[in-house]
Order: sequence, then structure tokens, then C-alpha cells
Amino acid sequence: MHFSDHTVLTFAGNPLDRRSDMRQDPATVQQWFEDDGTRIIPYWRNRVLVDHSDKLLDLPVPRSALAKDEHKRVYLGHSADGRALFLLDLSHLEEAQLLATAQAAALLDLREAAARLSLQDSAIAGFSHALMHWHKTHRFCGRCGTPTVPVNGGHMRLCSNSDCAMQTFPRTDTCVIMLVTARDPHSGEPVVLLGNHPRFPPGVYSTLAGFVDPGESLEEAVIREVGEEAGIRVRSPRYIASQPWPFPAQLMVGFTAEAVDLELHPDPAELTDARWFSADELRRAGDWGDSRAALQLPRAESIARFLIQQWLAGQS
Ligand SMILES: [Zn+2]
Repeated sequence: MHFSDHTVLTFAGNPLDRRSDMRQDPATVQQWFEDDGTRIIPYWRNRVLVDHSDKLLDLPVPRSALAKDEHKRVYLGHSADGRALFLLDLSHLEEAQLLATAQAAALLDLREAAARLSLQDSAIAGFSHALMHWHKTHRFCGRCGTPTVPVNGGHMRLCSNSDCAMQTFPRTDTCVIMLVTARDPHSGEPVVLLGNHPRFPPGVYSTLAGFVDPGESLEEAVIREVGEEAGIRVRSPRYIASQPWPFPAQLMVGFTAEAVDLELHPDPAELTDARWFSADELRRAGDWGDSRAALQLPRAESIARFLIQQWLAGQS
């Protein structure tokens, strides 16, 4: 299986220069915010706003009219044309008030954004969502319980108790996701292992996946997760690609692995079913949501689908 350097999975490919060295200076960040060329991207209750050409909306109001509360804004980075982008949290507004202020064509959740926006705008939307989720869930210091305040343009939170001053950074939860391959013992045909998760609609089969535990390598996580979920041993985990997955803040690290045994013993808490599928069966499968298809593949924008498509491309 070959992963091209040019392949960019949905939610990757953020085009912004994050300027992580410069954003530590509050005066610099403020200067960027006040610059007339700066784009202000509104964010509202887990949704982004888009204009009539399906691009992330620029808030069409003067800087002076925007929230004075600097805690509601996050510096996202600079675009190639030299303009700064800030995310502004407008979640405190009612929907009607928001739409009147922003003159938006639509409010999109992340899945809708991934389907409608360019790859680059989807990546900015995913990045924004992950950051906002982190801000919402890290308002208090994990060590002493005092409120935290955002610093570094919104890329760090600092405990406001000066005796503690603990720094907290945006977190990413690492997950492994793996396509397990084997050969059918009777036909010798190549097959892959997919499972139906209790969260999925019936008929949707996807690759196995799970969070990496503390004190565990990615390869160890691949072997453990397949063992726990499907009850089989695998060997030779091999890295293929990764994908930021902002639901809310995962990094999916994609692998292939070879099955050592084929007799599946799925854990009912993790999987309602697990089966081996041939390339022919997968080529006949429908898309997620296609209820006419007996077998449906994972969502088009997911690395699970990418791993399956890559494997299929290698089968004659
Ligand atoms: Zn503290």
C-alpha cells in the first residue's frame, strides 16, 4: 500500500501559517487583530458560518463593533496573502441575532462543512472546532481548580493563581485505526476485517479503531485493540497515514496489520458483528447512508474509507 505525499485527507491541509513564535506576544496579536486586512471568522455553538459561495464567512462589521472580550477570540494563523485570521466565538448570541449580525448564508456543523467547503476551509473549520472544544473544557486549572485564562493568541491557558501558574495546551487524543488483512484459508483470496460498531447503522462496516493507552506505542495499541475487539492476533502493524478528526479532538493514526488467526470472536460491547470481506464484496458495497445497500462503507471523508480504498486499489 502506497501513500502519496500529495494525498491530503479531510481536516488535514490547513493552509495557515500558525506563527507560533510570534503569537506569544500579546501586543503583536492585538496589532494583527486591529489590522484592516484581518479576517474575523465567526464561530457559533459548534457551527461555522458560510457565505453564499460556500466559503468560511468573514464577519462584515468593523473591528470596533466586535466583542471587546479578548477571551472570545483565537488567533488561527496567517493566510498566504499575508492576512491574519481570527476566530470569534459568538455563541452567546441568539440565532436570529447572529444571522442578522453575520449576514451568513448558512450555519454548518462540521460534517456539513466537510461536505460543502473546500479542503482548506474544512481544515480551518476542524482546527477551529478542536480549539474551541478545548477552551470550553479547560476553563479551570487541573491542578488547583482556579479559573484559567487564554494566552498566546488562544493557544495556551494559564492558571490565574500566581502561586500555581500551570500552563495547559490544546490536547489531541491519539487513536489508532487499522485495516487488518488476511488470506481466505479456502480460496486463498485476500480479505480484510471490518466490523459493525453499536454506534453505526446496521449494514455499515468499518475498520477497527481505538484510543492509545498511556504507556503504549502505536503498534502495541493496534495489536491490543484488534485483540480486544475482534479476538484475533495480528502482526506487522505498518503506518499508512494520519488524519485530524475534530469530533472533538482526535488524531487518527492509520495502519495496516496482518492477521495471525482468522477465527473472529468479536466483543459484543465493542462490535455487533465482525467479518472478513473480499475486494469484490467491497466494490459492490454502497456508501454510508445508502439504505438500499446490504453492505455500506464508512463515510467518504474518513481515514477508514481511505484505508479501504487504498487496499482495493492494490487488488487486481
Ligand atoms: Zn492552578
